[in-house]
Amino acid sequence: MALMNNYARLPVAFVRGEGAWLYDESGRKYLDALAGIAVCGLGHSHPAVTHALQAQASKLLHTSNLYEIPEQTALSDDLCRLSGLDAALFCNSGAEANEAAIKLARLHGHSRGIAEPKILVFTQSFHGRTLAALTATGNRKIQAGFAPLVPGFVRAPYGDLATVQGMLAADPEIVAVLVEPVQGEGGVRPAPVGFLHGLRKLCDQHEALLMCDEVQTGIGRTGHYFAFQHEKGLLPDVLCLAKGLGNGVPIGAIVARQAAADLFGPGKHGSTFGGGPLVCAAARAVLRTMEAEDIPTRAAAMGELLQNRLRERFSEHPAVEEVRGLGLMVGVVLRHEPQDFVRRALDAGVLLNVTAGRVIRLLPPLIFTSEQVDLLVDTLVGLLQEEA
Ligand SMILES: *Cc1c(COP(=O)(O)O)cnc(C)c1O
Repeated sequence: MALMNNYARLPVAFVRGEGAWLYDESGRKYLDALAGIAVCGLGHSHPAVTHALQAQASKLLHTSNLYEIPEQTALSDDLCRLSGLDAALFCNSGAEANEAAIKLARLHGHSRGIAEPKILVFTQSFHGRTLAALTATGNRKIQAGFAPLVPGFVRAPYGDLATVQGMLAADPEIVAVLVEPVQGEGGVRPAPVGFLHGLRKLCDQHEALLMCDEVQTGIGRTGHYFAFQHEKGLLPDVLCLAKGLGNGVPIGAIVARQAAADLFGPGKHGSTFGGGPLVCAAARAVLRTMEAEDIPTRAAAMGELLQNRLRERFSEHPAVEEVRGLGLMVGVVLRHEPQDFVRRALDAGVLLNVTAGRVIRLLPPLIFTSEQVDLLVDTLVGLLQEEA
C-alpha cells in the first residue's frame, strides 16, 4: 500500500455519477445523501459545470495571480452581489479560507494597536485541519498530537451569548469572532435564532470582526445562498466559503466588507493556485445555474420535506433523540452511538455520514427530488429498525 493510512475508507470506489446517483465499478447504483460532504450541490456530472470546465480547459488552465484573471473578477462580482459584501479573495479549500480570515483578524487587531490579538471561537466547532484552523476547532481529537497549537484563540460555548458578552467585555484583546451559523462536523447544530444578531451587536460594540465560517453552510445548502441570510438585515465582516462553491473542483474564498478587505494590501497574503481560471469558470457555472433555477429555494423546500418526513417516522422511535437542521443540512440524533451504520447504509445503497459519534448527517445534493427524499427516509427506517 503506497497511500498513507490517513483515511478509514469504505470498501467501494465510484466510477461515475449522475445527479444524486453514484455508480460503482460493478455498475451498482447508490443514492448519494452526502454529496461529497456538502460539495456537489448541483449533483454529479451537472452539464453546466461540465461544459464550463471543458470550455475553459480548452482555452487556458493557469496563469497565476501575477496577472489579471477575468473569470476570478467576475466570480468575485457574483459572490459580492449574492452576499451583499464588497470584495473576495480566493484560495483552494475551506481550511485555507479560514486561515485567510484568521490572518485578516490579526491585521485588524494590529491596526487597532493590539500586539497579541485573540479570536473568539466556539465549542464543537470545526474549521479545518491546518494548524491555525485546527486550533480554532473545538475538538480535542482533531488537535491531539499536534501541539504546540497556535496562540491567540479563546473559546465560548456555542449559542451562549451571555458568555460571549462577558468575554468580550473582560478582554479587549479579542478582535474577532469566528462562527459556523450551523455547526456541521460538530453534529448538525443550528445556532439559536438571534445568535448571529447578538454576535453582530457585540462585535460592533467591541470593534471586533464577525467572521462566518460558511464553508459547509454556504452556496444554497441551508435554503439561502448563505446561512447568515436567515437573519434579516445581518451582514458579517468576513464570510468563508469552499465546499459547495465549485461543485467538486477545489476552490475556497473569503468575501468581506470593504473595511476588512482593505486590510489585505499587496503582499499580505496569496496563493499560487487560488482563483485560477478553471475553478472560477466552474464556480461561475454553479452560481449561474443556482440563480437560473433558484436552487436555494428548492433546497429550503426539500429540506423541510426531508425533516418533516424524518420527524413523522422517528418522533416516537426509541433509538432517535431528535431531528434537527436547516435546509438540506439535516441531522438525525441517535440516543446511542450506532455500530457500523455508515457501512450498513452503504450495503443498503445509500451514502451518508455519522458525525459527532451519534448524529446521522444528511447532506444530499440540492437537486434532490421528493422521490429521493422518500427513498432515503424509507432506507433509514429500515436501518434504524436494527438499532431499536
Ligand atoms: C469542511 C469544513 C472546513 C474545512 O474545509 P477543507 O476544504 O476540508 O479544508 C472548514 N470549516 C467548515 C465549517 C467545514 O465544514
